[in-house]
Amino acid sequence: MSLETLYQEILLDHYKRPRNKGVLPHASVHGGGVNPFCGDRIDLYLRLEEDRVVDVRFQGEGCAISQASASMLTEAIHGKTVEEIRAFAARVEKMLKGEEGDELDGLGDVQALQGVRKFPVRIKCALLAWKVLQDALGEYLRNPA
Ligand code: ZN
Repeated sequence: MSLETLYQEILLDHYKRPRNKGVLPHASVHGGGVNPFCGDRIDLYLRLEEDRVVDVRFQGEGCAISQASASMLTEAIHGKTVEEIRAFAARVEKMLKGEEGDELDGLGDVQALQGVRKFPVRIKCALLAWKVLQDALGEYLRNPA
């Protein structure tokens, strides 16, 4: 199995069986956003305890890439601190924009998103959840609950 096929399999798996999908009542952090180019929509809910994500959910609709990316995101950030998440999301953004070299260790399933780089219009789909996350955390840090 080629790496490209493997990435597609991982992506489709997250799309067909999304992880952590749903609404989280009493979330510490909530954010939403759309990608008008494709009609994708993502809402993210995080519950924080002492600055660490103890629960996370997403709601959304749109193409397979946008939804799979959100599903991967929820798995990737669970248990991480706000600072760790911001650094992680920045790496993912760089990876998707082709600015990250070979330093992809520790990204887990999220690595599969790099297959999208060959399709520039789809990069916005893959980035949506990560942008929603960064915006929501930025807002949270300015106005802690
Ligand atoms: Zn899309």
